[in-house]
Amino acid sequence: MASPARVDLDGNPIKPITICMIGAGGFIGSHLCEKLMAETPHKVLAVDVYNDKIKHLLEPASLPWADRIQFYRINIKHDSRLEGLIKMADLTINLAAICTPADYNTRPLDTIYSNFIDALPVVKYCSENNKRLIHFSTCEVYGKTIGSFLPKEHPLRNDPNFYVLKEDASPCIFGPIEKQRWSYACAKQLIERLIYAEGAENGLEFTIVRPFNWIGPRMDFIPGIDGPSEGVPRVLACFSNNLLRCEPLKLVDGGQSQRTFVYIKDAIEAVLLMIENPARANGQIFNVGNPNNEVTVRQLAEMMTEIYSKVSGEPPLEVPSIDVSSKEFYGEGYDDSDKRIPDMTIINKQLGWNPKTSLWDLLDSTLTYQHRTYAEAIKQAIAKPVAS
Ligand code: NAD
Ligand code: UDP
Repeated sequence: MASPARVDLDGNPIKPITICMIGAGGFIGSHLCEKLMAETPHKVLAVDVYNDKIKHLLEPASLPWADRIQFYRINIKHDSRLEGLIKMADLTINLAAICTPADYNTRPLDTIYSNFIDALPVVKYCSENNKRLIHFSTCEVYGKTIGSFLPKEHPLRNDPNFYVLKEDASPCIFGPIEKQRWSYACAKQLIERLIYAEGAENGLEFTIVRPFNWIGPRMDFIPGIDGPSEGVPRVLACFSNNLLRCEPLKLVDGGQSQRTFVYIKDAIEAVLLMIENPARANGQIFNVGNPNNEVTVRQLAEMMTEIYSKVSGEPPLEVPSIDVSSKEFYGEGYDDSDKRIPDMTIINKQLGWNPKTSLWDLLDSTLTYQHRTYAEAIKQAIAKPVAS
């Protein structure tokens, strides 16, 4: 039950607000809706083209929060209801995006339209109607680290000044235009700059979030089960799919890239702090990640293999992983971020937020969920004879 005596970080009572959440039916949106319904008195106008991941929050009508969440099946590309919903709300949170790397180089136009053009009216309506905006950007706006341009054995590669990513100091370093991987990062960077400019010139109250590989249950889809057979989701779902099907995990270009992973439930705590502490969050760009959970993609594969064997009770595969080239896996125009360590100074200072969950623990709970949700369906799909 929502407690009436909730206070913000400065001890002021938190007033219930109405939030227009665009992309509420996605991975992050579903967790944010869950948190808002279970722990706060706020109302959500949930906008998305899909609602499968929030169905459990929308039905049955007897749910205790039924009058606090409404779903609007709206494609923000072309729906005149959007402005009305933004006007009805105190705060808009924009999560809508094409955000799977397999799309960046194969559908660059859709990627750029989704991450820049389609976000424009949202920013405009917020600015014109004096509504607060929390916009989801990405850690990918940093691109590659400065250190990645040094020779392989150069000692400065180990100097944090050459790889830690700081909101107010690090440059955005993308590859050449023919490396279409960067279409997403570039579109996100331009919308960040536009939002920042709306703040500077027109007084828009905004917060920009840069997620660093948030992972957990309900992320993406398992190909052939609840998504297209040929689809390529993000790494958690790719590796989960391989493990569920007892296939070797595919390491792109040797799995040498490094990532820091944060548990979705930790990250959602940070978003709730932003929602409920506007005075501390407005005008800020926040890295949200877990610098302590760094691994190479190869190490991630090894860890997931070990944990999946524990949760499923099945022995690990004899050949747990295979190497594939990025061209073979993603096609022409793929490129990669080498390393992503978030600097946590700003979010710590403004919101006192710190991630809690270790990589082992978050993979343990996530793979337990994946096994429980998909193992049976995969077994049936594999057993089914292919139609001739
Ligand atoms: P997601 O794909 O699960 O969710 C995005 C949602 O937006 C989907 O439900 C989709 O249907 C909806 N959407 C897309 N276009 C729409 C449109 N035109 N109209 C209405 N709805 C539309 O992705 P996610 O992981 O939840 O990411 C949410 C946001 O966070 C995105 O902006 C993404 O770029 C950013 N982000 C996430 C991560 C992460 O670690 N998960 C990392 C970096 C950035
Ligand atoms: N990757 C991989 N095998 C897969 C899927 C992804 O080796 O089956 C790699 C990918 O090349 C990248 C990293 O895993 O280096 C993370 O990919 P993800 O799709 O999660 O998104 P990113 O972190 O690059 O935005």
